[in-house]
Amino acid sequence: MNLILLGAPGAGKGTVSKSLVEKKQMVQISTGDILRNEIKNGSSLGIQAKKYIDAGDLVPDELILGIVESRLNEDDCKNGFILDGFPRTVSQAEGLKKMLIKNSFKIRAAADISVPEEILIQRLSSRRTCSNVSCQAIYNVISKPPKTDNKCDLCGSELIQRSDETEDAIRHRLEIYTEKTAPLISFYSQTGEYVKINGNQDIDSVVNEVLNVIK
Ligand code: AMP
Repeated sequence: MNLILLGAPGAGKGTVSKSLVEKKQMVQISTGDILRNEIKNGSSLGIQAKKYIDAGDLVPDELILGIVESRLNEDDCKNGFILDGFPRTVSQAEGLKKMLIKNSFKIRAAADISVPEEILIQRLSSRRTCSNVSCQAIYNVISKPPKTDNKCDLCGSELIQRSDETEDAIRHRLEIYTEKTAPLISFYSQTGEYVKINGNQDIDSVVNEVLNVIK
């Protein structure tokens, strides 16, 4: 069983994905996490992607499609995968459609975690991420603070504010979302795969809504 998770930055796609990974043994394919790992490793892909990410812009479609294509070829995807943060443009959605056909994968739904814009800005600007690449736990200084100031509860590493999570970068990312990603709502409505999820409620309720869609 495979799922696309749609939603603006800060909607909760990463948190929902991690919960589904635990409950359903699906694999999470987060293009944002893959890119951040590439940057940390200093790969040529990472170097190319960094300038877009830091500016809050989208990484070019060709780079992203290459990443997803090779990830979908890995064996663990046969157990079911969650696409988190991909596709983000209509062109990526068209590329994905071809990859799915080629690999005989079917998508159960494109679940869109919907949250009002002012809540997204508040959530993202108070977010802190564990600086340890193999952990990347996410905290929120208002709603989910770490037990010790600025230290990860899980691995003790320092927590950082991502450069694309400052207020200016967030506003820019939301504009890009409206312009480039929101058209996917109509794309997946036309294929009959679109399902809207209320993302403005506690996380367990959001996860339950998504579980109802995929059961
Ligand atoms: P995320 O963690 O999913 O919010 O992604 C962080 C950043 O990585 C985005 O703001 C983009 O710069 C880049 N990125 C992640 N996924 C994609 C994608 N599917 N297409 C283009 N850029 C992406």
